[in-house]
Amino acid sequence: MTTDLLIAPPGRRVAARIEELIGNTPLVRLAVPDAAPGTEVLAKIESANPFASSKDRAALAMLHGAEQRGDLPPGGTVIESTSGNTGIALAALCAVRGYRCLVVLPDSATPERVGLLAALGAEVVRTPSADGFPAAIAKAEEIEAATPGSWYMRQHENPDNVRAHYESTGPEIWADTGGRVDVLVAGIGTGGTLTGAGRFLRERSPSVEIVAVEPAGSPVLSQGYGGSHRIPGLNGGFVSPATDIELIDRVLTCSDDDALATSRALTKEQAVFAGVSAGAAVHGALRLARDPAYAGRTIVVILPDTGERYVSIWNEGTSA
Ligand code: PMP
Repeated sequence: MTTDLLIAPPGRRVAARIEELIGNTPLVRLAVPDAAPGTEVLAKIESANPFASSKDRAALAMLHGAEQRGDLPPGGTVIESTSGNTGIALAALCAVRGYRCLVVLPDSATPERVGLLAALGAEVVRTPSADGFPAAIAKAEEIEAATPGSWYMRQHENPDNVRAHYESTGPEIWADTGGRVDVLVAGIGTGGTLTGAGRFLRERSPSVEIVAVEPAGSPVLSQGYGGSHRIPGLNGGFVSPATDIELIDRVLTCSDDDALATSRALTKEQAVFAGVSAGAAVHGALRLARDPAYAGRTIVVILPDTGERYVSIWNEGTSA
């Protein structure tokens, strides 16, 4: 079939369930005018998942794992402490599978996130953002102990979080680049994405460089101390047990301002509408792409979610 439209021809089958549409997200080449010769940056667009983030993969794998082990009784209660995207994916999957979903969030979460969770039928419990993630985790544990038939997902230490990316994100990158990937760049929250995808790619090609990006305000990997930052989804002031530090070759830091500026620039210049943590990861990838030492390399960078989730902070403090 020929068509004048620049839209791919039909070919997708009908999915039996919404979760069959999780994964197989596309790569898009970013324009990097000042890249080193022959260097390319390929962005993996995780907002193409049904609930618009990389966390669809992890939430599905963790939920499925609990069901298979018998940790979660039918009609039971699923609890998670999360900055937002895991909760959104989880709330959606719980709605489909008939579970009650309880999400514990620091009160710094954006109104878009809280609204989405409520729309998906989740109950939201807030903890003071000044107390960081440990407070949200403590609250979730308290609720679990007091709620019969409940299961706390614990994304920060749940091996199924890493497995999701080992079995999907990594293989997709390998297949879509035809095995031509030299560097993987991702921001670290739980570390599930970089650990799972990185481990898979490293097994395929031992020379793959695994690069972590973390907030300059909370340099837990590069400096060994945590702090506050404004890059939702990245570390909560500690190194999550799901992060395999041994796998990481290089850690780059990104300031809150650079992360926001990079995500805005991606949107305005390339119409790649991704979140603030994607801005941080791309900021890191661009630094490498401009470095002559990276000439001729293919750099894959993960864009975990959509900019639409950050509209309230997106336009803050800008007159433009
Ligand atoms: N960015 C955003 C927006 C996220 O929600 C997450 C997940 N917390 C990450 C980055 C980091 O992903 P991971 O937990 O797999 O390290």
